[in-house]
Amino acid sequence: MPPQIDLSAIPIVDHHAHALTKAVQIASLVQYQGYFSESPDPIIKARYVPDSIMWLWAIRELAGYLDCEPTAEAVFAARNARPIQELANGMWTDQNSVVLMIDYGFRSAENYTPEELRATFNQRVEMILRLETFAQDLILQHSTFSRMLDAFVAGVEGARAAGHIALKSIIAYRTGLDIAWTSRDDAVRAFGQVKDQADREGHIRLASKPLCDFLVLTALDIANRQEMPIQFHTGFGDTDVDMLKANPLHMRPLLQSDRFRKVPFVLLHAAYPYIRELGYLAAMYPNVYMDLSLAIPFITTQIPTLIHEALGLTPLTKVLYSSDAFSIPEIFWLANRWGRAGLEQVLSEIVQAGALTEAQAQWAGEQILSANARRVYQLA
Ligand SMILES: [Zn+2]
Repeated sequence: MPPQIDLSAIPIVDHHAHALTKAVQIASLVQYQGYFSESPDPIIKARYVPDSIMWLWAIRELAGYLDCEPTAEAVFAARNARPIQELANGMWTDQNSVVLMIDYGFRSAENYTPEELRATFNQRVEMILRLETFAQDLILQHSTFSRMLDAFVAGVEGARAAGHIALKSIIAYRTGLDIAWTSRDDAVRAFGQVKDQADREGHIRLASKPLCDFLVLTALDIANRQEMPIQFHTGFGDTDVDMLKANPLHMRPLLQSDRFRKVPFVLLHAAYPYIRELGYLAAMYPNVYMDLSLAIPFITTQIPTLIHEALGLTPLTKVLYSSDAFSIPEIFWLANRWGRAGLEQVLSEIVQAGALTEAQAQWAGEQILSANARRVYQLA
């Protein structure tokens, strides 16, 4: 029997998550299944989610929590019978989650705003500014590049004063992590085309490489002056991510440059499947941190393997747990439950291997679930 590391007393600081949906009830079992996959494909959601370990394991776990039969229908009925406030607060309390840092630029029309989350639920809520969606709004609002850029700079410079504790970039989804040193002239040229299209169509999905690269570099300069953390989507996600361009090794020129030494780079989702690449970067560069979300909970029974890979090379003060959960409380609960259990199992095995003492393993668990995020984001 390996020594049992127990991390249940350690509160979770969930440093990357999304808001809950305001839909009072979920209309159908098929719609419910949709939340248990990253795929936007209706056939995956309807036909294949029920055949995934994510779903099968979740249903049994949720039946235990909701005290109902371990069938999809019973779990669906039991969760819909509970008011959302009771369901969500209960699940966060059950897993000892205390802080949510919300990237609210995702499905924002259908979700609780950060203010509404604060008013309705039992978590401390902090805000993260998503750069690309912020820039999209400004491109629609402003007629010239320089006015748009002035507003972008003012917004990023004022992000902290407006209550944000970090920036977030989804450039991996838009043009890739191979961010090139881009001149203002190149960005101005790209703006003309993007603006024309935005005016014609009335909306915009910003995916112009010169513009995306220039705006992210501009934001990084501001973050460097303010020593403000930035989260980058890296690795897997839904199908509009080009996985070849989502490898964090593409960010080496940025990390090698002295220009952004004071920016804490928090690279999200264990960069899965590029976890070894991310672990290497976090071990090499003082200002790179490794997040484990999305892989937790979605890789299910492989979570302990992932955590082993994360901790083997990377200093324990540079690995951060989060859920990346979205829309429904169940995803938060499963991530928190499986993440904590996986960390307990792996730390127990590391103690058994003689690499850490029990006290050191306890300390490591506290760093990963709580203390590292509090330090990186300077949470009071
Ligand atoms: Zn996310």
